[in-house]
Amino acid sequence: MSLIVCKFGGTSVASPERIKKVAQRLVMRKQEGNDVVAVVSAMGKTTDELVGLAAALNSDPPAREMDRLLSTGEQVSMTLLAMAIEARGYKAMSFTGRQAGIETDGTHAKAKIVKVHNERIMEALERGYIPVVAGFQGIDANGDITTLGRGGSDTTAVAVAWGIGADVCEIYSDVDGVYTADPRICPRAKKLDQISYEDMLELSGAGAGVLQMRAVEFARKFDVVIHSRSAFSDVEGTYIKEETDMMEEAVITGIAHDTSEVKVTIRGVPDTSGVAAKVFSALAGNAVSVDMIIQNVSEDGLTDISFTCPGGDLKRAEETLSRVLPDIRAREYVVDRDIAKVSLVGTGMKSSPGVAAKAFSTLGENNINILAISTSPIRLSVVIDSAQVAEAVRCLHSAFGLDSDSVFEETQLSAEEIAAKMNKGR
Ligand code: ADP
Ligand code: ASP
Ligand code: MG
Repeated sequence: MSLIVCKFGGTSVASPERIKKVAQRLVMRKQEGNDVVAVVSAMGKTTDELVGLAAALNSDPPAREMDRLLSTGEQVSMTLLAMAIEARGYKAMSFTGRQAGIETDGTHAKAKIVKVHNERIMEALERGYIPVVAGFQGIDANGDITTLGRGGSDTTAVAVAWGIGADVCEIYSDVDGVYTADPRICPRAKKLDQISYEDMLELSGAGAGVLQMRAVEFARKFDVVIHSRSAFSDVEGTYIKEETDMMEEAVITGIAHDTSEVKVTIRGVPDTSGVAAKVFSALAGNAVSVDMIIQNVSEDGLTDISFTCPGGDLKRAEETLSRVLPDIRAREYVVDRDIAKVSLVGTGMKSSPGVAAKAFSTLGENNINILAISTSPIRLSVVIDSAQVAEAVRCLHSAFGLDSDSVFEETQLSAEEIAAKMNKGR
């Protein structure tokens, strides 16, 4: 008998029919002799709709109210799922983040979990219930509701799995595992049987939305095995765990893309010491997460500095620059929203020179212009025009020998749909 956490994302609980299917799956896992805890996201696009409602009333909604509002999405799906399980003759009980013992710090919209109190869930399990936990939410020291950042139900699932000592944390979604690239834009992407925490962390951090990065971080820290699999079929998915000897070390494990960032260029910056420090300290002070930084060669004592940051941070970045630019006597700043970041990821890169050269020549041969570059020992990222993102992922995927013989049959996304999927509002 195993103890399993099963997390279902928004697509998997988007309608009453789908919730029934989820209930059926949970009951099946229980009938197999397992103890099961469910974690759910809000139904379909509920969270986006709630963000839209708030925006219609206030362009800068108070963070506390926003978290309270967004937490209601998961509270709807958790109760409906519990009802659907009961309708199949099994006992179920829903729990909000607070009731499930998810204690966080007070950083609204991206709260960090500080403690997991497992008592209520353990008690419900002992009494034969299937506990159904609302993902994405917790409670801070003041008793206020917090949320864990977009996609945060994955993190709830891993935290609950750790808190109750589960054998595995199964994350069900609309794809049957982690692929070498997003199969919706790269039909030749291959499903991976297993992937190390390190590679998955880098892929998630570079935009692979199949698992929230914080969930992978948590899993790595506390050694929770994740099984990413399909909500619609029974096929084995991808195991995310500490590296094993059996894993072949490919040079590139996967390619991620991210269209949620923007590029800001500050023009006519006096090329003197201390200027960059002033700009980036001010940005950091205003909670702008700067990703890449590019400084051009200076001409006549003036230079341009560009940086990328999440689209959600742009408003704060603009406020900061309007304040700082007169101070450093820079001319102006311009914003480019139509960018995408494409990243090659693989622990095998450490021991393989030539990855950058091959990536650049592949992009060049396909007339894809590189706007910025950044590297880490196991990642190479380039910023390009967002209209070329699918093409870039596909040509790099082929060039690095990742293409599968079969083709992913489900819907492929257009450039607009790719952007919409990533720009989740906040
Ligand atoms: P959920 O709503 O269930 O949390 P998500 O939409 O967050 O599901 O994650 C699943 C989506 O992740 C897929 O539909 C797919 O388009 C996207 N995705 C991005 N990168 C990858 C990848 N490397 N492998 C699989 N899916 C990926
Ligand atoms: N409902 C939240 C979101 O849409 C959390 C999640 O789905 O994981 O981001
Ligand atoms: Mg998700």
